[in-house]
Amino acid sequence: EHSPAPDPAPVDTHCPYCSLQCGMTLRPTPPDRGSGGTPGSVEVIERTAFPVNRGALCGKGRTAPAVLSSRVRLTEPLVRRPDSGRLEPATWEEALDRIAEGLEATGRAHGRDAVGVFGGGGLTNEKAYALGKFARVVLGTSQIDYNGRFCMSSAAAAHQRAFGLDRGLPFPLADVARTGCVVLVGSNLAETMPPALRYLTELKEAGGRLIVVDPRRTRTAEQADLHLAPRPGTDLALALGLLHLVVAEGRVDEEFVERRTSGWPEARAAAMAHWPELVERITGVPVPDLRKAVTMFCDAENSMVLTARGPEQQSKGTDTVGAWINLCLATGRAGRPLSGYGCLTGQGNGQGGREHGQKADQLPGYRKLADPAARAHVAAVWGVEPDALPGPGRSAYELLDALGQDVRALLLMGSNPLVSAPRAAHVESRLRSLDFLAVADVVLSETAALADVVLPVAQWAEETGTMTNLEGRVILRRAALTPPPGVRTDLSVLSGLAARLGWEKGFPADAEEVFEELRRASAGGPADYSGITYRRIAEEDGVFWPCPESAEESAGTGTEGTPKEAEGAHSEGAERPGPHPGTPRLFLDRFATDDGRARFVPVSHRPAAEEPDATYPVLLTTGRVLAQYQSGAQTRRVAELNEAAPGPYVQLHPLLAERLGAVEGAPITVVSRRGRAVAPARISRDIRPDTVFMPFHWAGPGRANTVTNPALDPVSRMPEFKVCAVRLELAEG
Ligand code: SF4
Repeated sequence: EHSPAPDPAPVDTHCPYCSLQCGMTLRPTPPDRGSGGTPGSVEVIERTAFPVNRGALCGKGRTAPAVLSSRVRLTEPLVRRPDSGRLEPATWEEALDRIAEGLEATGRAHGRDAVGVFGGGGLTNEKAYALGKFARVVLGTSQIDYNGRFCMSSAAAAHQRAFGLDRGLPFPLADVARTGCVVLVGSNLAETMPPALRYLTELKEAGGRLIVVDPRRTRTAEQADLHLAPRPGTDLALALGLLHLVVAEGRVDEEFVERRTSGWPEARAAAMAHWPELVERITGVPVPDLRKAVTMFCDAENSMVLTARGPEQQSKGTDTVGAWINLCLATGRAGRPLSGYGCLTGQGNGQGGREHGQKADQLPGYRKLADPAARAHVAAVWGVEPDALPGPGRSAYELLDALGQDVRALLLMGSNPLVSAPRAAHVESRLRSLDFLAVADVVLSETAALADVVLPVAQWAEETGTMTNLEGRVILRRAALTPPPGVRTDLSVLSGLAARLGWEKGFPADAEEVFEELRRASAGGPADYSGITYRRIAEEDGVFWPCPESAEESAGTGTEGTPKEAEGAHSEGAERPGPHPGTPRLFLDRFATDDGRARFVPVSHRPAAEEPDATYPVLLTTGRVLAQYQSGAQTRRVAELNEAAPGPYVQLHPLLAERLGAVEGAPITVVSRRGRAVAPARISRDIRPDTVFMPFHWAGPGRANTVTNPALDPVSRMPEFKVCAVRLELAEG
């Protein structure tokens, strides 16, 4: 007689989607427990102890387990057969052999840089690290980048330029509720990360003020005390206009500027060239509203500016974010508690994903690939000579644009650029022109459907790994289930490929083992994780980087010890003996620049890469909706989410609809120089009459990114998703 197996224990973990990385508990459901008890299913339980979301989840997080048991998830490798031209089931051995052969043959025939690697901002830190290492030491290619380049790279570049260090929020999210005034620029967090809305509600309940900058009256803008709706692509001018008024009204914090910054005279001069009436003409925001914003921002004892994709996804995104940072610096709203500039990252591991080496110009620990000392440190951890490491490669769009030409084979992991990249029809034709494409994914995404080999990989609840949320808090996603038979982890894929490609030094597939190596590789770098362990994360429910090992431990492990950058970058606990406590708040004593001062950067307004003209007279801006996530590869497979957001639409003002003769629900074609997208009209007064909006989560005829402009920011290489010129036509049907 067997006694029944005990119920599996609940597992504390985190949502698979956005950068809030909401805590949740998963209770595996045994197969014999009623109708929902299929193998591999889990139930989501509220986890109130995790401080970021305190139990709250949005619909995406609540329904995330549906993808685990989805009928459309991949559970066996697929290989394209030459005779049928179709993807057909294969063994893992065959699939991995084919990939190894495909990558090797291309490298042999066309050189190592003819092999590309494309990663994702949803990959765990361990995967991002392993992918970067795999590209540089196993494949020996410089051609690696990831879709996070499309997410917040402009904010990252502006952070680096001004503060010498990039962490999305340099303070815990909870500080937002305790400041006096928040300016939220280009973020619709009521739809993108609803549990974060509570911080704004608490802010207002405590008497704080909220200013929202967005060309649309979104659900977030509805909460604002003041909504500024600039013309898309002009928020740089808006920030300069506010700074002009700060100077004109004597609101500059001269003492802070003198003591903790450099470069103010030049930045001041640039702002003074943007007088309010000029800014009103450029942005469409009335001067009285500019004055109101300055009063709210400066009257509060503490205030913050938080940006998201709106100002960042522009061909001048770095300068636009820089202008908002200048506003914070001039008013002394930086480097002290409850004030400052922060970026709300997008993807689940948008932060950690760019810190550990899958970005074209970076090595683990947020080190620069071009820095000889950084190369030497990481090469020693990897057991190679520094000279063996390739140099910086192309940015994400430039890499996609080179496919089929300079780059002839691609390994793609955790990304669906066929939907998420700008000028997507062109990217699709580039992907089709590759000699060899291998994709690892959980479902047959639109990009995977083009591949020569598709590998079915484990999902969030089936594997363990760390993520770094928008606050720089390193958290642990724990496995609650074993993957279905036929499914392997991304780490196991890289390990198997490394072995096939002749890498003899070992390429671990175990997440904790990879993290231990990552700790060593990051030690001494700006994003120092060397004092963070799985055990600590579990005990403390997250640890903020930088977190170097204590001096004692560093000596014992032969790492470089406490980094100068990290030491200087924070003031909370660095002086205490014993293990480093992590760094919730950055820059309190000094900024992470060489001289410890934040740098003003003089910036000026310039038009978008593509302005309206007689042929394309309307502006298009793109964004997200509540029930879908990024390219929709997962969320479009969840019935409840699909029902809530079944497809794209074109939001337009009644005046524009009338001019066009469009009625609610009628199909509209949005035409740009790059292509056409068709979707039903959604007529609304919540958008400017000169602008239309499309969400970008779908493929097919309504793919918004068919139309978007790949013009790149010169610093961050971010494409201009947020603004391009289009014309509207009434579509057939
Ligand atoms: Fe998941 Fe983000 Fe929703 Fe939280 S807000 S449940 S992390 S998608």
